Amino acid sequence: MLTVDIDTNSGFCAGVISAIGKAEEFLKEGERLYSLGAIVHNDAELSRLVGKGLVTIDKEDLEEMVAAEGEVLLIRAHGEPPQTYATAENLGFKIIDCTCPVVLKLQQRIKDAYLKHLESGKGQIIIFGKIGHAEVLGLIGQTDGTAVVVENIAMLENCVKEGSIKLDVPTEVFSQTTKSPAEYSRLCTRLEEMMAGYNELSVERFKGRGLLTVHNTICSQVATRHERLSKFALEHDIVIFVSGKASSNGKVLCDLCKSLNIRTYHIDSVSEIKREWFRADDKVGVCGATSTPKWLLEEVAGYILDLNKYVPEWEEKFIN
Ligand code: SF4
Repeated sequence: MLTVDIDTNSGFCAGVISAIGKAEEFLKEGERLYSLGAIVHNDAELSRLVGKGLVTIDKEDLEEMVAAEGEVLLIRAHGEPPQTYATAENLGFKIIDCTCPVVLKLQQRIKDAYLKHLESGKGQIIIFGKIGHAEVLGLIGQTDGTAVVVENIAMLENCVKEGSIKLDVPTEVFSQTTKSPAEYSRLCTRLEEMMAGYNELSVERFKGRGLLTVHNTICSQVATRHERLSKFALEHDIVIFVSGKASSNGKVLCDLCKSLNIRTYHIDSVSEIKREWFRADDKVGVCGATSTPKWLLEEVAGYILDLNKYVPEWEEKFIN
């Protein structure tokens, strides 16, 4: 018989809970609320909020607007660059700023580093993150667009080769809040090796020069999830990972599960579940991203438990 556990650490993070709470509070009044980008990367949860009056627009929609006097715009937990606030205010929007406090703090740290470099006339900022991701665009905006974004070590090495990242200037590295702590650590180690080599120093001697500062900016809620989810993936025969396919955090966490449990499947709704994935006595683990609602995890778990009805004889090894 299939048994199913839901990962108690999966589900909305504090930033998403707060943004949705503020949206619902406003929508209670029956007024229209614009959200710049999807408030959460989850179609089911989005539809629920659309039913209450939430209208999702993108940057292009915002730029094409001519006036928005009396309208209200929600800035989601990912945050936005300063330019977005200026555009929205010039159009006449009232803003409900739901930028997560953790992201706000990161934006401020990057801004401080940028201003310090401007004052001293030298320095560079590197951001480990997904190119084009809303949070990353908000971070680059703190540096007047000068920060270099790298997604992985190959990209870092390429930027060094092309000269967009220099190895002999004061360098500060920050991470998007939802990246993998292990990958961030590997990337920073590689950068340190390259900088030490370029400056003809051993890594140990290079450390004392203060040329490279690595900031620990991965959200603690995400970092602890990595540890707990690793254990969860190993403890189950099969892992059903539930999140919108556009969720950056979902991709990172699902890849983590896949690296530990080859029988990991990424779905965004019950309609994607296939009976042939399961074996009759599987211990199934259901988990998700920071944008996956608890009710959806429960729906998926219930659907999988119901598959037991389709197994006529328990001697069968496979359901199909
Ligand atoms: S993952 Fe962390 S930083 Fe990002 S919105 Fe959630 S609580 Fe905030």
